[in-house]
Amino acid sequence: MRNDQFWSSGSNCIPAILNTVNNLSEDSYFFAINMKSHWTWCSESARRHFEISDAYVEDVMAALAKQVYPEDMEEYNWAVERRIRGEDIEGELCIRMKGIQNDYDMFSFHMDRYRDPEVGADYILWVLKNENILPDFDALTDLYSKTKYQSDLERVIQETDGCLAILKIRIEGFNTLNIIYGTAFANHVLQEVALAFIFKMDENSAVYRQDGEKFAFILKHCSRDSLIAYEQRVRQILSEEIYVEGQHISLKISSGAIILEHYRGDASVVQSQVAYALNHSTREHQGNLIIFNDEVQLSRHVDLDLMKVIHQSVRDNCKGFYVEYQPVVNSKNSAIVGAEALVRWSMEPYGKVPPGMFIEWMETDSSMYDLGNFVLRTALNDIKPLLEICPKFFINVNISARQLERPEFRGAVLQMLEETGFPAENLCMELTERCRDFPVEIIRKEVEFFQSHGIRFAMDDYGTGSASSDIVMNVPMDEIKLDMSFIRGIQENPKNQAMVKSIVEFANESGMSTCLEGVETEDLQDYLRSYGATWFQGYYYSKPVPITEVEKLLRSQDG
Ligand code: C2E
Ligand code: MG
Ligand code: MG
Repeated sequence: MRNDQFWSSGSNCIPAILNTVNNLSEDSYFFAINMKSHWTWCSESARRHFEISDAYVEDVMAALAKQVYPEDMEEYNWAVERRIRGEDIEGELCIRMKGIQNDYDMFSFHMDRYRDPEVGADYILWVLKNENILPDFDALTDLYSKTKYQSDLERVIQETDGCLAILKIRIEGFNTLNIIYGTAFANHVLQEVALAFIFKMDENSAVYRQDGEKFAFILKHCSRDSLIAYEQRVRQILSEEIYVEGQHISLKISSGAIILEHYRGDASVVQSQVAYALNHSTREHQGNLIIFNDEVQLSRHVDLDLMKVIHQSVRDNCKGFYVEYQPVVNSKNSAIVGAEALVRWSMEPYGKVPPGMFIEWMETDSSMYDLGNFVLRTALNDIKPLLEICPKFFINVNISARQLERPEFRGAVLQMLEETGFPAENLCMELTERCRDFPVEIIRKEVEFFQSHGIRFAMDDYGTGSASSDIVMNVPMDEIKLDMSFIRGIQENPKNQAMVKSIVEFANESGMSTCLEGVETEDLQDYLRSYGATWFQGYYYSKPVPITEVEKLLRSQDG
């Protein structure tokens, strides 16, 4: 097929124009379907990505169908047929398709029909947008995105001579805003915060939106004193200068940072260290600035390259990783009814390292697939014998987006269940806010697949960000686990009381179970009983312990 046969009125230049436009957008691939001849023209980048040999293809549907993930095939055929007939499709459509590296990426469909008035031929311009290629700017706040943060950090580390500081902050209690005032208002707050930050950027400092209500700053040529002053100014802006719809909103933050001097190492290592400092600030230091370098000197002798070692451990068949279990109890009588599997890593000379230090960063890396499956397999093997003592005992396992996104995960889970003889009904998979980069449609498909085999799903750390509400509203979850931040100090905090009450009520009305995390004392347990949640979990019953301890606890309760 030649250009002049395909394009009416001899529009030979159309392919050149479309190719030029397509080359400007790295994340999209263009096709034009001639509705008279039914041949399709494919842009150069589409041909490269999908390995199509000619610019003109007689049956593009068949050529592309080979790349579609089998589970999405039906939806793909349905969507293409409807769009070709000129019908609109409600809602967002996401299909997984294979690309050159044989990995599946998520694609959204955009189709526009146009008619050439001179010859009356109809064309459909079809754009497949690769949702796995993430943009440099955050759509909500217009700040630089998390993807740009990763690439900038790598570059700046290699280029900067002298001191470099990385600061990461989290707005505390943001969940309260989200739930009480709604997502639209909360998003407006984030936009105002971003606006205040944009004005602070210069050639030596850049700000990036991270997950949910977190922001990161890369500060070049920044000494320890200037880092502290910068952080104080950020704190002051958020507590004094944010106005939304004429209302002053005073925001509190937690903050973690690291200072790098002549560092030329791995950027992902730095990311986990900052994440660790931030978590430490929230959990142990009432949100005060924690600088990772001080922590290293003060507490453990953590080597700055610790994360590299942890990463290598996954490649070495998860050497050094093991699983501990924290009991989950019936809220009414405190009897142990299940447990949550929690991964740990330990190796000399580093000692025992908690997941808060590595999981956030690991979850951005594909090796999390192997680590997550290691935890699942270990948990199924460990818990299976306990079913003889307590047949209904359930195990909750944290699942990351890196597992859910892989097509082979479905088969891997079913195979693990078969090999261990573990009943699917006794397994519950926990998803967190950290799945937020994942289209909710795909989460729903995966969840429904596993549920059809009997596995239950819980929304973990509910309320810590807007994505968890989005998932709960659109995906048929079986359980909500309320984040500890709601439970800590609840007796003195009427806002948290109202929130926990309404979330438990909402779950009960929607047929979901609830688990309150962070129950640390008997007093708190007794107080929380009136809320009517299904399960409790917390240090009051037990810290995470080896499987042998869980067995002892179960046997002592049984006898
Ligand atoms: P999570 O899933 O919300 O797990 C609960 C965390 O709260 C655990 O921290 C547990 O030790 C801690 N915790 C439980 N009760 C109490 C309490 O009464 N007081 C206090 N202060 N803390 C309590 P841990 O083990 O450090 O895990 C942190 C997070 O790391 C987990 O939060 C989970 O999101 C992630 N994680 C752990 N194991 C895995 C895993 O195998 N895969 C994935 N993807 N994530 C994991
Ligand atoms: Mg969990
Ligand atoms: Mg949790």
